[in-house]
Amino acid sequence: MLYDLIIIGAGPAGVSSALYAASRGLNTLVLEQSECSGGTLKKVSNITHFTGFPTGESGEVFSKTLDAQLKGSGVEVLQKKVTDSSLLGKEKMVICGGETFKAKTVIIASGETQNIPEFESSSSIFEEHLHNFASKYANRYSDVIVIGGSDGAAKEALYLSKQVFHVDMVVIEEELVAVPEFSVPISKAPNIDVHLHSSVVSVTGEREVEEVHIRDNLSNEEKVLKKPGAGIFYYMGSKPNTQPFSELKLDNGYIVADENMRTSIDGIYAAGNIRVKQVRQISTSISDGAIAAIEVSKYLK
Ligand SMILES: Cc1cc2nc3c(=O)[nH]c(=O)nc-3n(C[C@H](O)[C@H](O)[C@H](O)COP(=O)(O)OP(=O)(O)OC[C@H]3O[C@@H](n4cnc5c(N)ncnc54)[C@H](O)[C@@H]3O)c2cc1C
Repeated sequence: MLYDLIIIGAGPAGVSSALYAASRGLNTLVLEQSECSGGTLKKVSNITHFTGFPTGESGEVFSKTLDAQLKGSGVEVLQKKVTDSSLLGKEKMVICGGETFKAKTVIIASGETQNIPEFESSSSIFEEHLHNFASKYANRYSDVIVIGGSDGAAKEALYLSKQVFHVDMVVIEEELVAVPEFSVPISKAPNIDVHLHSSVVSVTGEREVEEVHIRDNLSNEEKVLKKPGAGIFYYMGSKPNTQPFSELKLDNGYIVADENMRTSIDGIYAAGNIRVKQVRQISTSISDGAIAAIEVSKYLK
């Protein structure tokens, strides 16, 4: 079967592309590695500053809404991980392990994967007490460490501060890089300590976390936080999921695309956080997805 369009990834960008493709009657296949659509948002405690949601919405509920909208749109959705591709020919090949899917056009909307911190620790601690899903795991802890200082980290630290007794934020930058919506309440929160220009170097403990060793990167001094039973949550930036797309022009790992989402290869489009861009938000991903699908429909005519 030769599809009109294959969309890779069902985060906000991929779902938006699929809805616009369906509206234009394109024979579309969506390939998403996870069971539920929604992408990065699934693990976000609260979606903020998104137009139309004045009181926010939990990431889990928002993702389920996207999932239902995608699956109700009539496009074919398969749970598959794309592992490779061959995009230069007229028939674009998208490879998922042993299976190959073919289409006239492809929209790549595979987003980013969160960076996982690397520090010395016993493997059991690393696996069981390290998370980036605050709303799911907060109830296991009364004390938590949040690694990161951007908007996402700050938002989740604030969320955690309402669920647990105490939060320590370990921030590599010299100041919190979060917007005032988050940085101001953090500065006033009685149960959040912010450790600036610092990194976690090791975590000790047998079955649970006992001590978290952090280094002040300016003075090089190490400090020991005694945190028996603590959880560690990480929000330390992300890397683009472009590994299967080696033929495309990339910049720092991200796909180069023009304002119509066209990439360096004819018939291949990129939408959302996967592409080189200034603002990585739901609104900009959804916008990219809409533009990409409209461009595909023009291209196919
Ligand atoms: C902690 C945190 C909080 C945030 N809060 C907000 C907020 O409040 N408001 C806001 O606007 N933005 C927020 N964001 C940013 C927002 O999550 C992103 O801008 C948005 O998710 C990007 O959408 P996307 O569709 O481009 O990519 P993603 O959401 O990353 O989705 C990509 C999808 O592609 C799939 N995929 C990846 N590789 C493959 C493959 N090889 N094969 C098949 N499928 C694949 C993934 O499983 C995923 O479903 C937050 C981000 C973080 C980290």
